[in-house]
Formats: sequence, C-alpha cells, structure tokens
Amino acid sequence: MSELPPEESSLEQPLPPDHRSGFVALVGKPNVGKSTLLNAWLGCKLAPVSPKPQTTRTRLLGILTRPEAQVIFVDTPGIHQPSTKLGEYMVATARRAVKDADVVVFLVDATEPPDGGDEEIARLLAQGPATALLALNKVDLVPAAEVPARLAAYQALGNFTVALPISALTGYNLDTLLEQLIALLPLGPRFYPEDQLSDQQERFIAGELIREQALHLLEQEVPHAIAVMVDEFRERENGMLYIAATIYTEKDSQKGIVIGRNGAMLKRIGSAARQALEAFFERRVYLELWVKVRHNWRRDERALRQFGYYLPKN
Ligand code: GDP
Ligand code: MG
Repeated sequence: MSELPPEESSLEQPLPPDHRSGFVALVGKPNVGKSTLLNAWLGCKLAPVSPKPQTTRTRLLGILTRPEAQVIFVDTPGIHQPSTKLGEYMVATARRAVKDADVVVFLVDATEPPDGGDEEIARLLAQGPATALLALNKVDLVPAAEVPARLAAYQALGNFTVALPISALTGYNLDTLLEQLIALLPLGPRFYPEDQLSDQQERFIAGELIREQALHLLEQEVPHAIAVMVDEFRERENGMLYIAATIYTEKDSQKGIVIGRNGAMLKRIGSAARQALEAFFERRVYLELWVKVRHNWRRDERALRQFGYYLPKN
C-alpha cells in the first residue's frame, strides 16, 4: 500500500474547533499601499502595484489559507471624489466591499497628516458594521520619534480596535497585524479550497498584469487612459500559455504613444508584461498585444461594462 504524500494527507485533517474565517476589506486613499500590503501577505504578486494613484480599479480577492484561519481579502480602489463613470464605479465598489466585510483594515500614510479624504473614510467606517483596525503604513519613511504623534492624529479620526505602525514594504509588524486581524474574524469553516489564491478569473489577472507593466513604462504620458482586455487565453499542447490582449486608449494621440517610434514602446510593454505573466502563471507565455482607440471609454458605461468594470447595483 502506498502512502499519501504529506500535503495530501494533511488535506484530510479536520479543521481545529476554533478555526476562523471571514472577509477583510483593505481601505484607504489611493497610493497608501493597499496593494503592496496584500501582496506582502499573500507572498505573491496579485494586485497591481504602481506609484500612480488609482491603479486598482476593481474588487479583487486574495485568499490566505492557514491551518487556523482563512482570510479573504478585498482590495478596494481608493475612495475619492468621482469625476468620471470609472471613478463612480471605483467608489461604489469600495463602499460595497466595506459593507460586506467582517473586518476592515484602514490603511493610512505615515508620511502625511490626516486630511479630508481620511476623515471621509473614517466616517464611512463609523457606520459599521465591521470592526476597524488602523494601520499606519510607510513608517520606514518617518523618523521613529515622530511615529507616535502621527499614529495618535489618525487614531483621533475614529474608534479603532487596534492601531499599529507598519511597513508593507519592509514587512515591519505585518505578522502582528495579521494575527490581530485573524483574532477578530468570526469562528467558522473555510469558504474556499485551501489551494485557491483568488476567485478572479485568470484572464482578468492577466489583463491587470499587462496594464500594470504598461502604466510603469508609460510614466506620466497616458495616465489612466488605458484599459486592457484579454481577447484570448488558452493553454497550448506544449504547455505554453497563449495570451492575446488589446490595450485601449481614449485618443488617437495616446495610441501613438503606446505604440511608440517604430513600435518600440509596445515591444517594451510586451516584453515586460510577458515576464510578469510568466512569473505569475509559472509557465512560458506567448503574448500578442494590440492597441486600439475607444474614444473616451472612461465616460462610456457600455465600454466600462465590456472591459469588466461592472457598476454594482444596490
Ligand atoms: P494603493 O494605491 O493603496 O494600492 O498603493 P500601492 O500598493 O500601489 O502603493 C503605492 C506606492 O507606495 C508604491 O510605490 C509602493 O511601493 C509604495 N509603498 C507602499 N507601501 C510602502 C511602505 O510601507 N513603505 C514605502 N517606503 N513605500 C511603500
Ligand atoms: Mg492598489
């Protein structure tokens, strides 16, 4: 009789009686480090991270499964004043994520004092029903002596069960924050199989990885005017992934910038995106990229739907 390998036999283990599980929303203004924190906890690159604000456009689940708990993270777009249909979508998604969460991690930036945006988020959290934790991120950039006063200034915005200085970049206090967060989750079994990382379709993740590389390379030139749609995503017989995607811009002039002189920019985007895709899917990738104009897509509800940014209905 052959023995089961250890990881398979451990699947048979019953969950401990005090197993906890639940939904955790990460909220905070754009650029405070929500995606970086999620990636650090999950130990892999899932949420797009970019130095530009508002990179995260949609609700994205990351699932952390441990022997004693399953934490389902919702990475929300930054809550801000909407000026376009896309902006409205982002705000609506963030509000919904907060309503559905068991615990909310309110992430703030230690390098700046609280402002109106933080106050607004704190007001939203005060309406409940989730327990709120305050995490003062980027403390690696602030002199240690200034941290307590900064933390106190943010704590004054609301009623937080836990308030901790952290650094999503260096990993400082991330284990402590995770432990405290798990302790606040309700008792219950897992929602998802233990090997599942995200409930987002691979296709969508592929599109986000491509968009992230494009944003990095394009710098300030085409700020948020691009969307990526994955047209084909299939595995070839030789195990290689074939991915065809279209980058949409809002104007003809932006299309020219994305393509670049003699196609040089598009080549750079394609090569960086292919590397990111190969690292994520752990497979060789053949990537085909196209560029098209969809005039003013950010203000066009039909285009937003097509690109996968559904406006949630209340
Ligand atoms: P989001 O918009 O809230 O998701 O923010 P991101 O995770 O995309 O991070 C925005 C920027 O802040 C990126 O350039 C990150 O590298 C940077 N960042 C995030 N966390 C930290 C941190 O703890 N320390 C420092 N120094 N930079 C950070
Ligand atoms: Mg983000």
